[in-house]
Parts: sequence; structure tokens; C-alpha cells
Amino acid sequence: MKSNHSLPSSRDKLLFTPGPLTTSSTVKQAMLKDAGSWHWEFSAKVAWIRSELLRIAGLSVEGGWECVLMQGSGTFGVEAIFQTGVSPEGKVAVLTNGAYGERMLEMLKRARIPAAVIRSDESTPPSIDALESILASDKEITHVAAVHCETTTGILNPIAEYGEVARKYGKIYVVDAMSSFGAIPIDFEDCRIDYLVSSANKCIEGVPGFAFVFCRRPVLEATSGWSRSLSLDLLGQLRGFDKNGQFRFTPPTHSLLAFEQALIELEQEGGIDGRHSRYRSNHARLLSGMRGLGFSSFLEPEVQSPIITAFRCPRDPAFSFEDFYRRLSDRGMIIYPGKLTQADTFRIGNIGRLFPAEMEQLVQAIEASLIDAGVTLPVTHPE
Ligand SMILES: *Cc1c(COP(=O)(O)O)cnc(C)c1O
Repeated sequence: MKSNHSLPSSRDKLLFTPGPLTTSSTVKQAMLKDAGSWHWEFSAKVAWIRSELLRIAGLSVEGGWECVLMQGSGTFGVEAIFQTGVSPEGKVAVLTNGAYGERMLEMLKRARIPAAVIRSDESTPPSIDALESILASDKEITHVAAVHCETTTGILNPIAEYGEVARKYGKIYVVDAMSSFGAIPIDFEDCRIDYLVSSANKCIEGVPGFAFVFCRRPVLEATSGWSRSLSLDLLGQLRGFDKNGQFRFTPPTHSLLAFEQALIELEQEGGIDGRHSRYRSNHARLLSGMRGLGFSSFLEPEVQSPIITAFRCPRDPAFSFEDFYRRLSDRGMIIYPGKLTQADTFRIGNIGRLFPAEMEQLVQAIEASLIDAGVTLPVTHPE
């Protein structure tokens, strides 16, 4: 598999992060062009990207689905769904166990959209029963929103089970699959999804610049007149694509060129299944290496995704995250600070143009950095 793919250029540090992430040199090279955003050649690329995204998701226009691209980072795509898709009388039930669920609540608050919260601690998926009882008792709820891989910890939440409950009560179901789409197969019909959002710089391995939202066309059409925002109007954006194949406002042209190449490379790798298996190999190599150094991961294996892993910081007076981070950076490797509120952790992503060999390199660099810092190996953890 590896020989088919171009590696990142040797000068770049390797990004063991949840995105932006390490991209192939061919994805980077695809950006060395100026594209006229209203020229037919560019519109054809945009059309191909939209239809290819539908194809890899197992969806089609004939089946009633659309893929709407939205300028900005992933958050803009999530916010566009709420700004556009929730009626003035709407209310959203949010399942949250991390920073991205909490961000949804913040968006709803800013948009003055009422919300109901089903919250669990960061190591546990929000309860399916709690969702059911809130939907049974609160008739004002119109939407259910969940995060698939909560990147805060790397936990995988049961989106199919939530979707079943949402469907039973006739609610519109919104899934943030930002850090999982492209790497973990998702059956949209099985999960009863109405809207699903992801972005260019996660598991498709493109560069930042836009989000993409899969929508059931009739569900989106029914939102006519609701959008609270001009730029984040998803239906307006779809109508723009329908009309002339163009973004309504300046598109991230270079990011789209890179993304076209990233989609080609995804297909060369065997599509979502092929990528899933590489990420699983990366994750297995990382975990066994880290365990060998004494580290333990924050989550139980049953709920751990193969995307990103939170490790507990060692209990050793010689360990400080800042110092550890700098030593790894000096060795050409970038990891990610913890975002948890409950435990002292740091995170390592294994998505992007990385292979088991790079995970091995990282583990060796971690060992060398700890030894240099005077941390005793194997490390120990607070209980
Ligand atoms: C990355 C990510 C987002 C979006 O973050 P941006 O910084 O706006 O791209 C949203 N949800 C999840 C789960 C993510 O991993």
C-alpha cells in the first residue's frame, strides 16, 4: 500500500494531531495553481468533488441526498446546519461528552435556539435511555444532534442507536462526523441520519478551507426562509450550486484543488475501508509502543476510536507537558495537548499521511525525549 503513495516532504514536521494533519506531497503540489473560481473547469471540479463525496458515503442524488460544501473550518459546517435547519420554533437535543458537543451548545445559545442537554462524562457515551426519556417528555424538541468520534478523547459514540431513537420520535438527526468520516464506514440509512458534517482537513487528508454537509434534500428544502445567517445558509448554498455550479461567495480554490487529489488518493488506498485498516494498524502500533513505555490510555478499548488517543500524563516530577512537547518538536514530531477537563492527558492522532513506520518513529522519539528529561521508565500514572 505504502509504495503507491507519496510521503510528506522530508522538511515538514510530522503532525500526530486530529487535523490539520500531515498530507502527501502530491496533495500539497495540487495547490500550485491559480484557479478561476467561476471558470467552467473549476466548476467541473467542484461538481466532481460533490458527487465523489456522495459516492464514497454510499449516497446518491437519485436517492434524495445532496452534498453541500461550505467555506470555513468544520465548525462553520456544524453552525450552518443549525442556522439553516432549525425553525424559529425549533429546539435541539444535544448529546455531549466533550468539547465538540459543548461547542454545539454554545452555537445554539448564540443563535438563541433552545437546547436540551444529555451529558455524560468524557469516558462514557451519552445515554441512549436518557435521550429516549427526554424525547418522550419534551415535545418541543425538533432535532437531535450527536458527535460521532468526540475528538476530545477519541471516544466513539453510538450514532446508530441515537438515530433509531430520533427516528422513533420523528426528529431530525444531525451528526458531527468531522473526525471520523472517510476513516470509519458509516451507513447513513442504518443510522437514520438527516444531516452529517465533516471537513476537508480530517480523514480525507486534504488541507483546511471548507466543510461538507450531507443532507437529505427534502429535509433541507423544507427549511426555506429559516436561515438566520446569509453566509452560513446551507439551502442558499445548495441553490447556488444548483443554479450555476458555483459557490455563492469566494471559494477556497487551493483547498478544493488539494481535496480533489486527496479524494483520488483515498480511492487508490481502497476507499474508506482501506483507510480504516491503515488507521487501525497505526493505532495498534502506537498503543503497543506506548504500553511498552508504561503509558495507559484514558478510554476503555470498547469505546476507543482508531483516530486519536488520549494518554495519561506520567506521575513523575521530571515530566512536564511543555518540555515533552518541545523535545518531540525538536525531533520533528508534533503531538496534541489534552483537552479533557477530567484528567491530565495528552493526545496522539494517527490520521493523515502516516503509516505504522511513522508511529514507531514517534514511540522511539517519545522514549528518547523522556530519557533526556530524566523521566523514569516505564512511566507510572496517578490512580
Ligand atoms: C475538528 C472537529 C470539528 C471542527 O473543528 P474546526 O476547528 O472548526 O475545523 C468539529 N467536531 C469535531 C468532532 C472535530 O474533530
